[in-house]
Parts: sequence; structure tokens; C-alpha cells
Amino acid sequence: MVVVALLFATALAAAPQIDSVYGPLPVFELHSGFWINLHHRLYEAARQQRSAAPAGSAKSGKSAKPVLQVAPGAKPALTGPEQRAWDDAVSYYAANYADKDLLFSTELVLLKNQLGDFETCDELSGAKKRTCDAGLPGKLTQILEGAAPVYRAHHWLADDRANRAWIKRVAPLVREQGVGLSHRLAEIYQTQWPNEKIRVDVSAVANAAGAYTTLDPLRVTIAGTDARNQGAAALEVLFHEASHGIATPVEQAIARECRQRDKPIPRDLWHALIFYTTGEVIKPVMDTEGDAASDRMVPSGSGGSDASQGGKHSSEDGDYTPYAKREGLYQRGWENYLTLLTRYWQPYLEGRATFDDAIAHMVSAL
Ligand SMILES: [Zn+2]
Repeated sequence: MVVVALLFATALAAAPQIDSVYGPLPVFELHSGFWINLHHRLYEAARQQRSAAPAGSAKSGKSAKPVLQVAPGAKPALTGPEQRAWDDAVSYYAANYADKDLLFSTELVLLKNQLGDFETCDELSGAKKRTCDAGLPGKLTQILEGAAPVYRAHHWLADDRANRAWIKRVAPLVREQGVGLSHRLAEIYQTQWPNEKIRVDVSAVANAAGAYTTLDPLRVTIAGTDARNQGAAALEVLFHEASHGIATPVEQAIARECRQRDKPIPRDLWHALIFYTTGEVIKPVMDTEGDAASDRMVPSGSGGSDASQGGKHSSEDGDYTPYAKREGLYQRGWENYLTLLTRYWQPYLEGRATFDDAIAHMVSAL
């Protein structure tokens, strides 16, 4: 197992960075794709331009002009034509997409998926290679192909490197814990985990939440540089996002119970529930991982290994703080949900209640 992993790592290191898929891993298929990253960069720049433009107060030092930040070590400045191509692309995105939501706009979801599927192509028009005709509207193709060399020359290397670093950090956790966690979550949600690996696009930027998931096909987009998605949280974010695709039975059960009791369906209860559940399922795993990691750290540490030997297992509650708690999600209007989940859902997670009873109790206590 170790040997295989090592061989693979060597092969990967030696290969030119043209393969946008990292793997093989269980459960997830992690991508760092050029077009998807460009798309999210342009979308973000367009949103910034839009929010910087209208207010009319010239006071803030913020310029409304879209600027492509130059990565360290890249070519220093955009040439005139490069800047124009980039500005055109941002303006196009501002006019056509900035008001639409990456998650809720069908148009943006389809575009994102299409750009993911064409990640190995260096064009989208099919002019050089027929199989690289992504079938996008002509103007959009022209805009993206115009912005592509600019992005490639000035920012893509840094973005790709950051995406791959994120993937590399989370990959061992996925390899060790992915299958177990997927089985556990599927069992909790009384469903099947998808047979096919879930595609995850790691992008320099994503939406405001730092990650989002679109269905049919189930695909996850995660911002690899988002502070909320780092360290141990990376694994939780992966499984939280994937849960969006598999927790439908929970959503349906909540709706059913609400209808039976003539209650309005609480919009976010199921979402709070998958946050809570992922956190609870990940916690013991991460606490063990944390111990294992500190075991590995001890020998290279600065002496005092005896002291740390005793210390590392001492916290019985463990150290991992689930995402929703850490990011204060329950304090933003979900306090009641947290109470319900702790009182009625937690017993189900511990095998002391049935799924149906847990949901029924939560809904009747609403
Ligand atoms: Zn979510």
C-alpha cells in the first residue's frame, strides 16, 4: 500500500502538470481545472467591479477597474492588449453573470459543469481540435479564449499550485477515512452513497460560502484558498458538500412531518442537520487523526517527548471543533435548531432512537 502510494507520488512529481485530476482516491475525484478556475476568477472580479462601481463615493481607495493581481514570480504587469482582454472578460461577466448566483442559476451551473468537462482542452471553440468545441455561445467562447492566455501567463500557475497543495493536504485523510465516512453518512441518511466518485473542483475562489454543490450531476466546488476550508476542516467541508447530494431523505422526512402537523417547512433545518451530522461524524476521526499526527510530530520535535507523550491523549473530548460551531453558524439564527439537533437527532446518531422518531420529535418541537 505504502509502496504503491510512493510510486504514484514519484510518477506524479515527474509528470508535467497537465493532468488536472489528482488521484486515485476513494469517494472523491479531485480536480484543479483551468477553465473552472478562470470562470470563478472572472465571476469574482465582476462581482467586485459591480459592488465597487455604483455607490458613487469616490472616497474609498477601491478602484472600479478590474485588476488581475499578479502572482509572485509571474510576469510583472499586463500588457495593454492583455489588460484589454481581461477587462472585456470581466465586463462581460459583470453584464451577464454577476447578478446571478453560482448555485441557483441553471445557466451558471451548466456553464461551470461544461468548463469542468473541457478542462483538458486549451481552447473552447474547437478551432484546433474538434473535440474541444464546448458548444458555448460564440461571444462567451471568444471572451474566455481571450482571457485565457492572460490568466495563464499571470495567475494560473499560482492558483493551480495552491489548488494542488490543498488537494495534497486533504488526500491522505480521504484515503484513510473516506470510505468509512461515506458509509457512515449514507447509513445515517438512510440512503446509498453514489457508486461513482463525486467530482470536486478545487478553485482559487468559489462563492461567498467558500464552497457549493450542484446536483444532477452531483459536483462540488471548493475554494482551496478559503481560510474556512483549511486543515482538518477540509475533510469536513468535502463531506458536508457531498451530503448536499445524499441527504434528500432527511429533507423529505422533515417536509412530510411538517405537512402532517400543518406546520410550515423550516427552510434551513435540513441544512443545519447536515452541518451538525458531518461535524459529529468527523469529530472522532479527526481527534484520532490529530493524535496520529502529533505522534508523527513528536520525534522531530524539540525534546520533551515524554511530556507530550502523556499530554496528547489527555483531552477526552478531543480538539476538533466542527465547522458550524467554529464559524458561528448556530449563532446566526440557528440556535433553536442546535437545541433540537442536540436533543432529538444526537440520540439517533448514537443509536438510541430511530430515524423516523428523531425527525418526528424535531418537527413536533418546532
Ligand atoms: Zn451546505
